[in-house]
Amino acid sequence: MRKSNISNNRCIICGQQKPGLTVKDDFVLDSIRWIKRNITKNEKGYTLVVCKEDYKKYLKERNKYIRRQIFYIAVGIIFAALLIIDARSIGAVLFGLAIILLLYLLSLLSYIPAVELPEKFISKDLKGKYGK
Ligand SMILES: [Zn+2]
Repeated sequence: MRKSNISNNRCIICGQQKPGLTVKDDFVLDSIRWIKRNITKNEKGYTLVVCKEDYKKYLKERNKYIRRQIFYIAVGIIFAALLIIDARSIGAVLFGLAIILLLYLLSLLSYIPAVELPEKFISKDLKGKYGK
């Protein structure tokens, strides 16, 4: 765990300035930053972290989010497949893809980003579930 400079840290669970595990950058966070920089103009430049006290809570939320996302995408795929089988047209295929995309975007409403886990931090049973 880096303990160097925490003055810019913000915990994504409690919102406090604390040392913690750094949140991994991904396209969702990049998009949010881009919007804040270019459209709403309120980028704060925080380093997002999860503090030690909130780590358990974070894992629970992250798990919930992943399960919800899988559920949404599965529903979208099943729905799209039924639609395509039934209609057999390009329009149905496009509509099906649009539904999958929409459900995926819905799942992002409760977005919980991944964190960078130092090797020693990962116990064996956690590694399989969260070690990405
Ligand atoms: Zn916290």
